[in-house]
Amino acid sequence: MRLKRAATPVEKEEIRTPAKRRGPQVFPRCAPGENTRAQSARMRSMKNSFTASLERIVQKNADEFLAFALGRMPAFVTGSSSLGGQPAVFCYHDIDPERFEAQLRRLAEEGYATLDCEGLDERAGSSVRGAKDVALTFDDGTWTFYTFVFPLLERYDVRATLFVIAGLVPEDDSVYPNLEDVWEGRASAADLEARGRAQPLCTWRELEAMHASGRVDIQSHSMTHSRVPTSSRVIDFFFPGFPVETYGNVNIPLPAGDDPRAPLRALPRGAPIFESASRMAAIPRFVENAEPVNALARHVEEAGGDRFFERSGWRSELGRLWSGSAGRQPGRFESDAEMEKTILWELSESKRLLEERLPGKTVTHFCYPWFQGSATSDRLAGRAGYRAVHYGIALPRDDDGAHALPRRIQRISEEYQCRLPGRERTSLLEIALERIGGSLRRFRGPK
Ligand SMILES: [Zn+2]
Repeated sequence: MRLKRAATPVEKEEIRTPAKRRGPQVFPRCAPGENTRAQSARMRSMKNSFTASLERIVQKNADEFLAFALGRMPAFVTGSSSLGGQPAVFCYHDIDPERFEAQLRRLAEEGYATLDCEGLDERAGSSVRGAKDVALTFDDGTWTFYTFVFPLLERYDVRATLFVIAGLVPEDDSVYPNLEDVWEGRASAADLEARGRAQPLCTWRELEAMHASGRVDIQSHSMTHSRVPTSSRVIDFFFPGFPVETYGNVNIPLPAGDDPRAPLRALPRGAPIFESASRMAAIPRFVENAEPVNALARHVEEAGGDRFFERSGWRSELGRLWSGSAGRQPGRFESDAEMEKTILWELSESKRLLEERLPGKTVTHFCYPWFQGSATSDRLAGRAGYRAVHYGIALPRDDDGAHALPRRIQRISEEYQCRLPGRERTSLLEIALERIGGSLRRFRGPK
């Protein structure tokens, strides 16, 4: 069961990436002229993806159901007519520009102010009666931020925080158009979509420009956004079309032998995918032995590479092989000291790198990848110089108030922004229906 609990925030992030921009991995479509056998293999793969997607949707909602059940949702979400003197902190990943603009319009009409991290720090510990403050935070630094969010922030005169994966920011000097260029007639909507395909993350050049504008508060989302295997339990095998994510293969847990400071997360076909969690969850990493993994990869190559995956029961076949070859000595666990060293590196090095690249910047807030942190990571974040750490809706269970520094910030999905006090509040039922609709649309796969 630990796997499912650990996987919740992971899938939450993954599933929010718009299907049309995810690349062709998740729902393989039949190529022209494909034979019936290959088609049926693809159908099996689709069925597997369908089941996995269904699980993800259940997992994605589990934390929120729990928060509602335990009364941990901010009161305004469930109907209160005020924010209770506290800022509401919203979490975004990729955005739809029309929807985002409608949100900004409503914030302006209702008189809400937007806070960056410094603003959140100033408000910490104090309750301001009648305050109407929100913070808009964006994880990962994907292309939609520079392309759509930044020009809209300018247009509506608001501020936002962008948590970037410092070690994945591309060195790319290309000048990409954004929404402002479309407004000015210098680019088309098709040009913007093309950029998303060409470069899925904001570049250093773009981060520098947004930092210089004074409107975007750039903070850390780690160096590598890594997951690590947490046991020898195999949950799948790497197959052609495995959903790796469109940047940095971040859905793949770090394989042994990969460089944890600049991971490629490249796996041979047939390699086991282990039960995993975010590096920052501070669960000791399982480091698998190379030989049994290589044996699986060799088996797949000798059976025709991609064609191996057209066989019915290929997962069971690899499973049997893995149990046989890795059964006695699958690998080892890292020590607590090794674990803390790499966690501290993710914290300190991302802060150092962002401060080096962005003149005058002091990085003071850290956002946990996959929404997974822990008391250990919080302690190390404090040691690395962070004043606050950002989670999702669920805070660690050991949240006993003993963590004065760094402060833990609970964030809620941007979907609840329409519950902010004011006119035209959307009902919770409408939000739920929209979410179910969105999930069903994703089943249809990439367009
Ligand atoms: Zn993230």
